[in-house]
Amino acid sequence: MAKKVKQIAIYGKGGIGKSTTTSNISAALSVMGYKVMQFGCDPKSDSTNTLRGGEYIPTVLDTLRESPRINAHDVIFAGFNGIHCVEAGGPAPGVGCAGRGIITAVQLFKQQKIFEELDLDYVIYDVLGDVVCGGFAVPVREGIAEHVFTVSSADFMAIYAANNLFKGIHKYSNAGGALLGGVIANSINAPYSKEIIDDFVRRTKTQVMEYVPRSVTVTQSELQGKTTIEAAPDSHQAKIYRELARKIDEHEVSRVPAPMEVGELREWAAKWGEQLVAMESGILPPQAVGNL
Ligand code: ADP
Ligand code: MG
Repeated sequence: MAKKVKQIAIYGKGGIGKSTTTSNISAALSVMGYKVMQFGCDPKSDSTNTLRGGEYIPTVLDTLRESPRINAHDVIFAGFNGIHCVEAGGPAPGVGCAGRGIITAVQLFKQQKIFEELDLDYVIYDVLGDVVCGGFAVPVREGIAEHVFTVSSADFMAIYAANNLFKGIHKYSNAGGALLGGVIANSINAPYSKEIIDDFVRRTKTQVMEYVPRSVTVTQSELQGKTTIEAAPDSHQAKIYRELARKIDEHEVSRVPAPMEVGELREWAAKWGEQLVAMESGILPPQAVGNL
């Protein structure tokens, strides 16, 4: 019997570190011996850059625009350690649904039975998720991905985007949609960012998969067009990415999250804000800052 490919989607607001984190997870899983495809679903089309020496690859949508009948292999490019790299691409700026590329690419691969042919263990979708609408909702709504993870820092806008994703997952959960694996906490260095994320996941009934610090090793690797797993495998940061990949590999049961209502979320963030200001101005001792 053919093995089942594990499909994972990684969401998060723009610029939060999705592609960096996803590429390091892909790299770590491939070093563990798995056959991996990384599927960029951001119209920016730079998801797989650090798996390909900083190079951009032609997108599925661009390739289709040139010739409507293509072979799926024309849009799959080999990256670090044999990782299969794909960029769904976006519409011409200002025209059409930005999620169109995902729908088109997924259909193409299904028709041509590419996952089976390549004997993949993992397909990892890197999806822009400020708003879970149209095409961007596809991996969740259609249940294409089995597990969804979200990258978030402790900043309000990142948490707001994560909470919106939870709403989308909640909404489609009765209709065979994907479920939530957990939060990947990124750029966790600032004081109390860990406490804020911990409180958020407790409130929304999910979990933190890993705390990933902000690190210059990531910047240096990126400047070489590489993941940290490739450029600095002995670094502390690479160790954290390997640990995250191991947890994702061992993860089996995802759940329906409990998103906060907008008013509730604002109130929650405002209380954290007040506490942090009080602490910075010395009114509140640091040890008094905690769960609200
Ligand atoms: P996204 O895919 O969510 O838009 P990127 O992965 O492209 O975001 O990251 C945006 C920028 O932040 C990149 O320059 C990346 O190197 C940097 N970055 C992300 N995570 C980290 C980290 N943990 N440490 C240092 N820099 C990071
Ligand atoms: Mg990206």
